[in-house]
Formats: sequence, C-alpha cells, structure tokens
Amino acid sequence: MKFASTAALALTTLAATLTPAGAEENVLNIYSARHYQTDEALYADFTKQTGIRIKRIEAKEDELLERIRNEGANSPADVLLTVDASRLAKARNMGLFAPLKSAVLEKRIPTHLRTDEWAAFSLRARVIVYNKTRIQPADVQNYADLADPKLKGQFCSRSGSHPYNLSLLASVIAHEGEAKAEAMARGMVANFARTPKGGDTDQIRAVAAGECGVTISNSYYVARLMRSDKPADQETVAQIGIIWPNQKTTGTHVNVSGGGILKHAPNKAAAQKFLEYLASDSAQRYFADGNNEWPVVTSVKIDNPALNRLGKFKADTLPVNSLAMYQAKAQMIFDRNGFR
Ligand code: FE
Repeated sequence: MKFASTAALALTTLAATLTPAGAEENVLNIYSARHYQTDEALYADFTKQTGIRIKRIEAKEDELLERIRNEGANSPADVLLTVDASRLAKARNMGLFAPLKSAVLEKRIPTHLRTDEWAAFSLRARVIVYNKTRIQPADVQNYADLADPKLKGQFCSRSGSHPYNLSLLASVIAHEGEAKAEAMARGMVANFARTPKGGDTDQIRAVAAGECGVTISNSYYVARLMRSDKPADQETVAQIGIIWPNQKTTGTHVNVSGGGILKHAPNKAAAQKFLEYLASDSAQRYFADGNNEWPVVTSVKIDNPALNRLGKFKADTLPVNSLAMYQAKAQMIFDRNGFR
C-alpha cells in the first residue's frame, strides 16, 4: 500500500515535469511592461468571465523583448503588453508576434490604431507644458513653436533617444517630411535651457520652478501630478499651463500602449480571447484609466477628474504604423542635431 502511493506520487511528479509550463490549459501567460494597481482588477475580471487563469511576468519594456527573443520557441509567453508604438514596432521587427486577426478588434478599435500584428488599447497625448509667468500661451500652440528663436534658453526635455520623443518626431516626418523635422530638431536644440536629463515629470517640475519655460510631456504625467495630494505637486500644477499642440493643423500627437499575441504562444486561443476582452467596455475603462489614459474604443466613457480637467482635444489620426516606420529616421535627425 505504501509502495503504491509512492509510485503514484512519483508518476504525478513526472507528469508535472514533462508538461511544459506554457502548455497548461486554462492559463494565459502575459509579459507586461505595465504595472498599475488597477490592472489587477482587470485580470481578475477576465478570469471570472472565462475561467482562464493569468500568470504575469512584469519587466521593463526592452528587457521583455529580449527575454521573449531569447526564450524562442520555448517561450511560455502568450501575450506581450507594452507602451509606445516604437516598442511595439520593435517587437514586430524582431519577429516576436503572430498575425492578429479578430473581427471583434476590427469592429471595436479604429483602423489607425491597429496593425495586422498588434493593436493599441489606450491613448496618451504629448502635450506642451509651460510656465505661466514666463511664457505666453499664444507662443507655444504648436510643436514647431518650440523651435522658434523666440524661445531661446527656455526649452527643456528628456533625451531625444527616448521613444516618446522619437515617436513625436516620427509623426512630424510622416506629416511634413524630413526637412521640416530636421528644422524642428535643430531649433529645439538651439532653444535648450539645459542638456536633456530626467523623465517627463522632471521637466514639468523644472518648468514650474522656472528652470526652463516650456517642455513636452506625456499627458498621464500631468494627470498624475493633478491627482496627487502632495502639496509640492499641487504647487507644481499651480505654476503650469497645458497646451494641446497642433489643434489647427494635424492634431495633438498621440502614442499608445498596446499588445499582441506572440508567435510561439502556447495558448493562442486564450491570448486572442484576452485581447478581445481588453477591447470590451469595462476593460477599456480599467486599462486606460489605470494610468490616466484614454480608451481606444471611442464609445467608452471614462470619468477621471484629471482627464476631465484637461478637457477635449483633436488628436492626430496618423496610423500607428507610420510612427513605427520613421523611428530610425527620427533618431538620425536627433543625433545629427545634437538632441541627445
Ligand atoms: Fe511613461
């Protein structure tokens, strides 16, 4: 009797060892560069609706791409979620994604916000932030204004190599050509108040402190400061004005967070279900609002005090593919003009 149960145990252990982690049925492995509290509720809701459990690996954007590539055909990852069109494009160029074909996503997500390998699930805008006592709002209505000699010594920014700035310049190349993009990069560098350093929030703080007069920032960093109850953050917000750039022309540059099904996904059916779930009304609200972003499904309404305060704007409708296409050119332009 004792012998029998030991044998049974051994067999069970053997079976467990032989089953590749990723092949577990009813488990979805997500590699995510997002780490927001509200995403927990999102995942729990998916499990409740489908019975599919979610296992998550969180890491920095570029690390995730490397990891998936290194794991190759043995990767347990089913879905990649990350931010910025350029990183999603990079994942595509590395050959990480499987084709994405879904009638649900085609119906729910506007054409310019999806590709045949990945789709966007939330939107962030790149806004102009200025110091109210140092800058006239009329002087900073467009991205190109940041290159105007009038703003000499006033402009600060994070690095030109950062995907957020690369995607912005890529949009300028796509709309107006390389020459205009080059002139803009050159003028921005000529207007630097200081060498690029830090992230978007550091620039906003520098603007509020009067270290520089104007910067560009992703909208959720502004929203985060607006929603903060720290007195220092409230003081920062009190000093700054926000502009939706290019309202009379191309619209404000928007970037995305998004995801796709991986080429070696062991559970492609569950991955597809999950991406379609992300486009549902409730998931869109969680997914976007968790980081103070906007849903991609236009019929979905959110009620976020900071986003309400920022108000409505005309967004650029350039296809996310175009942002990806001009990344390398944007980097070259920033490099040769010294926007490091
Ligand atoms: Fe960010």
